[in-house]
Amino acid sequence: MENVLTLDKETSQEMYNNVTVEKFNNIQTPFYYYDIDVLKNTLETAIKASSKYNYHIHYAIKANANDRILDIIKDYGFGADCVSGNEVSKALEHGFAPETIAFAGVGKSDLEINTAINGNIKAFHVESVAELEVINELAAAKNKVVNVAFRLNPNVDAKTHAYITTGLSENKFGINPWELESLVEKLPEFKNLKLIGLHFHIGSQILDMSVYKELAEKANNFLDWFEANDIKLPYMNFGGGLGVDYDNPENKTPDFEAFFKVINENFNRRDNQEVHFELGRSLVATCGDMISKVLYIKKGLEKNFAIVDAGMTDLLRPALYKSKHAISNISSIEEEVKYDVVGPVCESSDVFATEFTMPKTRRGNLISFHTAGAYGQVMGSNYNLRDLATEYYSDEI
Ligand SMILES: *Cc1c(COP(=O)(O)O)cnc(C)c1O
Repeated sequence: MENVLTLDKETSQEMYNNVTVEKFNNIQTPFYYYDIDVLKNTLETAIKASSKYNYHIHYAIKANANDRILDIIKDYGFGADCVSGNEVSKALEHGFAPETIAFAGVGKSDLEINTAINGNIKAFHVESVAELEVINELAAAKNKVVNVAFRLNPNVDAKTHAYITTGLSENKFGINPWELESLVEKLPEFKNLKLIGLHFHIGSQILDMSVYKELAEKANNFLDWFEANDIKLPYMNFGGGLGVDYDNPENKTPDFEAFFKVINENFNRRDNQEVHFELGRSLVATCGDMISKVLYIKKGLEKNFAIVDAGMTDLLRPALYKSKHAISNISSIEEEVKYDVVGPVCESSDVFATEFTMPKTRRGNLISFHTAGAYGQVMGSNYNLRDLATEYYSDEI
């Protein structure tokens, strides 16, 4: 694993200008620290960029399901995008309006489908014929007609990490184009379903906007095909996937402007058609850091290891996707030395960075892993019977 995310000392220190590292010293590590101002600013920027085109944004709850964060996002008027029945319940509990909740996922159980039917959500994003049959049956049992959108696999390469690519024909996600004809023929049999539109979600951490241009063009073709078959679709959902700047954690604002603009310029929106998005990472990644403490410095033959008290059970992304978070030692401004920054978990993949340059590091120093607000705390586990990291918010400490 190569690593290039070296922050200079000044940047590291400046990022915590408003918070005394003293305060962090008194908190049990590891923990997540969420900057509420950064979150609100990000949400406002996203709303400003999307409202130009009257686009709807759902927050993809799986990125971070913290109660406080959900409440703030709900208060800004976002809808919710859920990938499990429990996420649907959580969205409802937090007051997200049912007509703004979408439910996606390649393996929805009967229990989960019933939860969503009972919740009167906006739409099921359906990924197979078999699933359509089950939803139809369960809706019939409740004498209801439910909205569905087809999640189509547009075969667009998201040009991101293979594990977070979802829109290629070899991925497990979505309905493939060659299945559409027989599906549409079967539609009239599904008396308890109403097809309202199409859904796409092609991957995550996408920074190349040409990918969305290609997606918009494919969406145009799909709509043409449906209209040629006399089917009008009032709902389009382009999913999420907008990336953030992990290399420069002081850059807190993803490029929402460019994202919505490329869709607006390339998607041929029909009259009265609603256009929806489901953003996860880009809304919450930059507001969160994970703070840990150095337990030991260990000298290998040719390496220095900084063993920290956070591991893959607290921040899984590096072990799962080989992803990199910028790291800084926020307690030290000594001369710089190279370290492998590793966790305590009994797995060789429990490594955050190799050959990483940071100020000379000692036991007890605080280490911040930046841009950890999305797919961080929410992927925490008790493996090795470790405690789960807790969270603190900038306006509470
Ligand atoms: C995960 C997911 C999202 C959010 O993706 P981000 O990359 O975090 O924006 C949106 N839609 C669906 C269906 C998802 O599974």
